[in-house]
Amino acid sequence: MRIEGRCHCGAITIEGEADPEQVTLCHCTDCQTGTGSAFRVSVPVSGATFKMMGQPARYLKTTADSGNPRIQAFCPTCGAPIYSTSPGDDPRPSYTVRVGILRQRDRLTPKRQIWVRSARPWVTEIAAIERSELPTVPSLKPS
Ligand SMILES: [Zn+2]
Ligand SMILES: [Zn+2]
Repeated sequence: MRIEGRCHCGAITIEGEADPEQVTLCHCTDCQTGTGSAFRVSVPVSGATFKMMGQPARYLKTTADSGNPRIQAFCPTCGAPIYSTSPGDDPRPSYTVRVGILRQRDRLTPKRQIWVRSARPWVTEIAAIERSELPTVPSLKPS
């Protein structure tokens, strides 16, 4: 599948080819910290098809949960996570792109969950949490 993405502020755009069967949801503590959320959803994009406009900031995590050093790339302006990859010169063999920045994210449903040991206990029961179209917390209500 052809994919196109942009960070929140638009300074960085990417495109490439991704296999929807490879979409993975990761519950590891690195992904929780790196997203500021409960988990991360990513899809690999081969280096041969990956194109990027703009210059991300890169952070080398040498003690990733996986045990392998990983480059984390994110927008230096808005902080949106863009991808992770193995250390070395571009192009890398593969870029693990963050699905939340992709225009096609509606069609990129996770096919597997990994690092479930560190999953937040409520994620499996998320459907039971009160649902609303608008924020119900008073301070988040649009004024
Ligand atoms: Zn940005
Ligand atoms: Zn992870």
